[in-house]
Amino acid sequence: MADQPPRSFANSEAAYLKARQLMPGGVSSPVRAYKAVGGTPIFIKEASGCNLTDLDGNKYIDYVASYGPLIAGHANEQVEAALAKAIGRGTSFGAPTEGETALAGAIAAALPSVEMLRFVNSGTEATMSAVRLARAATGRDLIVKCIGCYHGHADSMLVQAGSGALTMGTPSSPGVPQSITQNTILIHYNDIDSAKEAFAKHEGQIAAIIIEPVAGNMGVVPPRADYLSQLRELCTAGATLLIFDEVMTGFRVGWNGAQGLYNIQPDLTCLGKVIGGGLPVGAYGGSRKLMELVSPAGAVYQAGTLSGNPLAMAAGLATLDILKEPASYTRLEERSQQLANGLANEAKETRIPLAINRVGSMLTPFFVRKAGQSVNNYADATECDTERYARFFHLMLNEGIFLPPSQFEAWFVGLEHDEEAIGQTIRAARRAFDLLNKQAETK
Ligand SMILES: *Cc1c(COP(=O)(O)O)cnc(C)c1O
Repeated sequence: MADQPPRSFANSEAAYLKARQLMPGGVSSPVRAYKAVGGTPIFIKEASGCNLTDLDGNKYIDYVASYGPLIAGHANEQVEAALAKAIGRGTSFGAPTEGETALAGAIAAALPSVEMLRFVNSGTEATMSAVRLARAATGRDLIVKCIGCYHGHADSMLVQAGSGALTMGTPSSPGVPQSITQNTILIHYNDIDSAKEAFAKHEGQIAAIIIEPVAGNMGVVPPRADYLSQLRELCTAGATLLIFDEVMTGFRVGWNGAQGLYNIQPDLTCLGKVIGGGLPVGAYGGSRKLMELVSPAGAVYQAGTLSGNPLAMAAGLATLDILKEPASYTRLEERSQQLANGLANEAKETRIPLAINRVGSMLTPFFVRKAGQSVNNYADATECDTERYARFFHLMLNEGIFLPPSQFEAWFVGLEHDEEAIGQTIRAARRAFDLLNKQAETK
């Protein structure tokens, strides 16, 4: 198998230089700037199905999928048609539309724990608002979150691990006051004892645990058997609310989300990504009793000029219509399994230590240090060989495979990844693994 000649990224590089003059780091969201893997980001000209084309005319099979939303593929015909129809009727009114009720109905029907919900504009807004609601509902201030889970960039959620867990959180960004993050308690993901300790230490003071039921923002890390049900029991016993941040997993790991997959009823659910079909949307929901505390039904204030935007509702509804077909999740599972198995085989044959975590159509191949190592939490994830991932990323980019520019992100398989695309990806990975070995030899 011949190595690929190097691609030219000249147009993207020029565009990036210009962008950097006007926007911090040249991007609208940090991970896009390739700081973790080096090099300049490719600028996208257009996309269709599972393919991207950059400014230099390079084509890629896309596993970023806009970080999750594009499960039905880029420029999907049904989504486009729904959007075209909606655009012709006007783009925003500051008054209710039936699209909101339709999408809310579809979501509530799919997620048994959600009787009512409120639309917002992003996942960040959803988690921020759910936390406010949880505090209001319980009359408590403390929030428990897992190290390595990402819940958007609201102040109270931007907390890193200090030297040890179970300490009061220290902000992971300048500009976030300690006075805010001291109300955020950190625990270890997948470690029920860590949660129990936090509950014992702060008895009667914890408003909510917020968690990604399948972690996706330290790379994909599935919950251990019983972990989520044990958290559910702890919360119920402590009159603490359990918030599932399903911004990534909602309508991604299955029609009923992670809560359906693992059969757990959270008190509040945060959504985003897939429910907007590629347009900016978030939502939070739960029981009627809790949600009626939200303004104007109740006193917990939360608002948005563009919330429930008719274009976003149309794109979301069209996407859910596609996913509702019983064959959709079967196909996603088959293709994702094909990809994971193929990568695992090639890694084994080339003796590249690789731990592949996968739940449905979200997966992360972790470059572990030794064959057989597994990744069950943030500490395991951060031990991986990120330098090797960076080299792999660039080799794959040159092969025409667009992966997330960080070891700690999920790859997303969508309905438009056909067997040919998956096969091509596996063959590219094989060549990349061989080159990684060659580079290691000559070092
Ligand atoms: C993406 C994500 C968010 C943040 O959503 P934005 O729309 O980027 O604000 C929150 N939680 C999880 C689990 C996510 O994956």
